Amino acid sequence: MQCSFCGAWNQNGVCNNLDPETIRAYLTELHDKGYRYLSLSGGEPFLYDHLYDVIGFANQKGFLINVTTNGLLIDRDYVSFVRNKNVITRISLHTLNRDLYRQLTGVDKLDRIMQSVDLLKDEHALYGLGMTVSGYNMAEVYDLANYALVNNAEYIRFTPVYRVYKGTDFSTGSESFLDLLNRITRFMLDHYDKLECKRRSTVFDKEILDIYTTKPCGAGSAAYVALNPDLTLVGCPVLPHYFDVPTGQFASCEDVFALRQKYEALLDSIRADQLKGRCADCLYKTSCKGGCISIKLENGLSLTDEQPVCINEIICRVLSHYSEDEQQKIINYWNEWHQKRSVGTGSKGCIRRLPVWELHFRKRNDPKMYYRR
Ligand code: SF4
Ligand code: SF4
Repeated sequence: MQCSFCGAWNQNGVCNNLDPETIRAYLTELHDKGYRYLSLSGGEPFLYDHLYDVIGFANQKGFLINVTTNGLLIDRDYVSFVRNKNVITRISLHTLNRDLYRQLTGVDKLDRIMQSVDLLKDEHALYGLGMTVSGYNMAEVYDLANYALVNNAEYIRFTPVYRVYKGTDFSTGSESFLDLLNRITRFMLDHYDKLECKRRSTVFDKEILDIYTTKPCGAGSAAYVALNPDLTLVGCPVLPHYFDVPTGQFASCEDVFALRQKYEALLDSIRADQLKGRCADCLYKTSCKGGCISIKLENGLSLTDEQPVCINEIICRVLSHYSEDEQQKIINYWNEWHQKRSVGTGSKGCIRRLPVWELHFRKRNDPKMYYRR
């Protein structure tokens, strides 16, 4: 596939340069350092000849494994292989419209992807959907959330399109983030009883929400480091090499820690008293330091310029449309999922990995689903 908003397909095949012995050694070292979550993405992980070796080894080591795929090569062998191996498969699906699917991905394979979804559903496999959202498919957010729900997906995750690589042609301003979040929260409230969250509110607290939506950018931190098939390290997958940001070459875990130091220094260099625009007067400027680095760089801004996409402000605008009771439900859901997902992210955050972009569905009404947990 050659998705119009993604540059990763340029790397397809490069991953076969990685020999499985090397990956085993790295996983062993990373496991010894305390890492427990492995995300395999692409390009396309199914094009890697040793995918099953890597999954099997990572499972033996005790990793929780995410496989992000276009879904084209999922078959019964794969579904049987990953059963009981702590694997969650995430299929990238951006539209249910055949013509738009062809337009966005360059292939006429929507039916084949839906067969993969049917297979995962019928086999009660752990899987989720990932939708990259732009102006082309924004109108389908609600329908895709519903498709995930009725097909027993664990969750659907929405990602505002990255304005890097092939995505530079897309509009990614504050208004598109706002539009997307309005649609997600509308679906959430319309289907609240189908979502995986405690029925009784325990963590409704706008202050908690404010704290985790104003953490400094987590690029290069303990939570967010990307390793490319050519073994280059980047602090965040949306910070490509053509931005002037720290990168590294992976030979051992020490290189990950060295990159972390460089990003600490980068954040330290952003002085809160030099932030501009709305960030200059912001209550959270000392912790937040002006928000997402990538969005500033992709807009040709400096790190002290005003943040064009303040997620905290966007969330406040979305919540202001709802009654107090509805706000309580939404914040309760987000705070609960923030608690579940925040292990290891520490003092750093990322606007694209916040719980606000995900909908998790409950399974307890279906007895067949018990053994999945
Ligand atoms: S206004 Fe700026 S500093 Fe304040 S929360 Fe938003 S992005 Fe962060
Ligand atoms: S906040 Fe932006 S630059 Fe930082 S990790 Fe997230 S996407 Fe990357």
